[in-house]
Amino acid sequence: MSKYWNKLINDIEPYVAGEQPKPGQKVIKLNTNENPYPPSPKVKEALDRFNLADLRLYPDTNSTIVMKAAAKFDGVSEKNIFCGNGSDEVLAIAFQTFFEKKALTGLPVLMPDYSYSFYPVFSEFYDIRRKTIALKEDFRLDPDDYIGVPNCGIVFANPNAPTSRAIAVSDIEKIAAANPDSVVIVDEAYVAFEENYESAVSLIGKYDNICVIRTLSKAFSLAGIRLGYAVGSEELIEGLKRARDSFNSYPVDRLAQTVAEAALLDVDYYNETRAKIIATRERAAKELKELGFAMPPSSANFLYAKPPVDCGTLYQNLRNKGILVRYFNKPVLNEYLRITIGTDEEMRALIEAIKEEVQNAENS
Ligand SMILES: *Cc1c(COP(=O)(O)O)cnc(C)c1O
Repeated sequence: MSKYWNKLINDIEPYVAGEQPKPGQKVIKLNTNENPYPPSPKVKEALDRFNLADLRLYPDTNSTIVMKAAAKFDGVSEKNIFCGNGSDEVLAIAFQTFFEKKALTGLPVLMPDYSYSFYPVFSEFYDIRRKTIALKEDFRLDPDDYIGVPNCGIVFANPNAPTSRAIAVSDIEKIAAANPDSVVIVDEAYVAFEENYESAVSLIGKYDNICVIRTLSKAFSLAGIRLGYAVGSEELIEGLKRARDSFNSYPVDRLAQTVAEAALLDVDYYNETRAKIIATRERAAKELKELGFAMPPSSANFLYAKPPVDCGTLYQNLRNKGILVRYFNKPVLNEYLRITIGTDEEMRALIEAIKEEVQNAENS
């Protein structure tokens, strides 16, 4: 509390990101869904070619080189792309652009009850009413729950976080078709981690109300540069640019643009990396199930896993052993650990540590 802060800042409960190890601290970090592999070697080549003298100049406001690379990657026109400083920023701008303030409408933005915890924070921060829609018992999102419910917009992640489950693009189409007056934001941070995935980007020519949010943080191993983008109809993209230009004209710096372009153009490396992560995930899921864990099938680079022992204790004991996983100390979520898929070696260390913990719990 501070008398210098306004009511909003005094009242808000900010998003809490996963723990960052202290500089120099050696941990196995499986708590924020980063990629365990380095970015494409093409990134280094692009940085070697980068002219440092150019840093005296402001960057291109639209990140045109990234727009072009993303358009190629997604098979759309560059007019369908909007780049921002991480997809968190793109999401924030999309909330401001597409959803209406409480004071102007009685209508809520619809979102799943268990999803990316930034969505409720944004709705508070921008004073947008929200209505949470329960996921099914098995953590599936049922598109029928989003039909016939008055709203000023819809947002969900697909695959969802932290639950790791995905729905089909045909289900997303159902939601968009039933809500033609609202923008449907589909956050595809994890879409790359399904073997033969289909992106909701395929619907963009047909529905002008779908806004797909992409990030280079997960599948492209570039959480450190903060680059996210939206894919949508020209009408939606124009709106996002109006909001950006009322807030920060240069959200993506020159180094980030150079790095992002190189990564997006190296599709072979992207496919290699995600195939490795998918294979490791399937092995880890099998081993954890053998140890008594329960989990929904994952389409992401993490497992949402319910241990056979006390979850909070396991989280803490793993942490003491230098292994960080994500634990949400909230009802329902506190029965699960969200475990990022690391390298095979990291997962072996995790599973060995868990084995010990499960045995200790059984013996005590
Ligand atoms: C990681 C994550 C993001 C954030 O991505 P950045 O581009 O790093 O800001 C967005 N949405 C979901 C669901 C995520 O898990």
